[in-house]
Amino acid sequence: MQEAHRGAILVLSGPSGAGKSTIIQAASEEIGEYYFSISTTTRSPRVGEEEGKDYFFVTKKSFEEDIEAGNFLEYAQVHGNYYGTSLKPVREALDEGKLVIFDIDVQGHRLVRAKMDDITTSAFITPPTRQELEKRLRARSTDDENVILKRIENAKGEIRALGEYDFAIINDTVEEAVREFVIVAKAARLKQSQEEKKKFIQTWLG
Ligand code: 5GP
Repeated sequence: MQEAHRGAILVLSGPSGAGKSTIIQAASEEIGEYYFSISTTTRSPRVGEEEGKDYFFVTKKSFEEDIEAGNFLEYAQVHGNYYGTSLKPVREALDEGKLVIFDIDVQGHRLVRAKMDDITTSAFITPPTRQELEKRLRARSTDDENVILKRIENAKGEIRALGEYDFAIINDTVEEAVREFVIVAKAARLKQSQEEKKKFIQTWLG
């Protein structure tokens, strides 16, 4: 299914602790107007996380009802919890011609590709080494040891999907990662749907 939209999608994946949100925030002024897709999850909020800002936190029952109702563009189970992207706000943002940024896992990336490949750009963001990821997760100290170990195991699985992404952003120094991210986001915005290209060709030919 390829739908006609005026906007474009930028999918970001990478292990928790890779610095995705820091990079997006630092780049936000330079990349211009965008819509950051707020996911719905069944996991509990971390210290400092806000409902409707970081995630919509819901129960398993409510999440499963949304699956049944077809409300998700994509969803997946990560670290034993459900995470999903609601279809409606994404559709609206795309119809308004916005760049829509997703922070989703590798399963979600595959599903978005399958549905909206023509307008999708993707980047995998990771610290340079596994050891560095461990160090950052421990420094963040918002998760207990078990959760950290689960995240590292998950990261080992995710890194294998790196080849499926358009770009790899190695977050060694934040400044450099932000610079690269800005370039990727600006290019992502320029991606046009097949429908739009067809229209352009028709108009051009007169
Ligand atoms: P965290 O619990 O650290 O916030 O996120 C865990 C993982 O779930 C991350 O890899 C993140 O990218 C992914 N994730 C967050 N929201 C979604 C979503 O809506 N869909 C999918 N497929 N993955 C998500």
